[in-house]
Amino acid sequence: MLIAGNWKMFKGAHEARQFATTIRHLPERLAEVDVVVCPPYPSLEATIAGLGESGVRVYAQSVHWELEGAFTGEVSAPMLLEIGVKGTLVGHSERRQHFGETNETVRLRAEAALEAGLEVIACVGETAEQREADETQDVLKRQVSVLPVHDRLVIAYEPVWAIGTGLTATPELAQEAHAFVKSLHDAPVLYGGSVKPENAASLLEQKDVDGALVGGASLDALDFEAICQAGQAAATSA
Ligand code: PEP
Repeated sequence: MLIAGNWKMFKGAHEARQFATTIRHLPERLAEVDVVVCPPYPSLEATIAGLGESGVRVYAQSVHWELEGAFTGEVSAPMLLEIGVKGTLVGHSERRQHFGETNETVRLRAEAALEAGLEVIACVGETAEQREADETQDVLKRQVSVLPVHDRLVIAYEPVWAIGTGLTATPELAQEAHAFVKSLHDAPVLYGGSVKPENAASLLEQKDVDGALVGGASLDALDFEAICQAGQAAATSA
């Protein structure tokens, strides 16, 4: 059971370090849950420092595919590994929507990150228009088919219409999409899209839901802990 918090463009270094000290105990209490947080780049080292020896792992929110070079605004996998970052998100829908991320650049980022030794959570998911047009499976096929098969790769199914909107996929809809993604690719699949303490249990109990990628609710320590507890309960009752 993997519960990952995506902090998006929230929490500067000072706040991140303080927050890390409030969640560092989670792995001790929740043995069945792998806890990951994804701070913005300038807060990565402060988060790692605040977590200390805690088993909470720190991921970046994206990574470039080259090791170094003239790529202003980008960060490479060796740079992340050097400061103790263990993994990275790739292909988050906000990157696809606002920053021109394509299936091809997601593939390049995922392959380079895995090759360098990072763990990867690759995000896929359909927009509301695509779901209404009955294109969900085609979109997922295109997004998933570019992802490498690797034991450090996890997929996050995040329907775009559910991200940051308060709209959550029903547990049945999530289960159906997860089963479809798993028929395409042999990787654990997290659910993402307005996961909160109130809906986490019913989503995480689904057979093919292997964890959650949590945005907004991961910014609050109590909410994040409650979601991790729901993950522990689902993992122990499975
Ligand atoms: C996310 O950022 O990946 C996400 C799922 O956000 P939220 O939980 O806020 O919908």
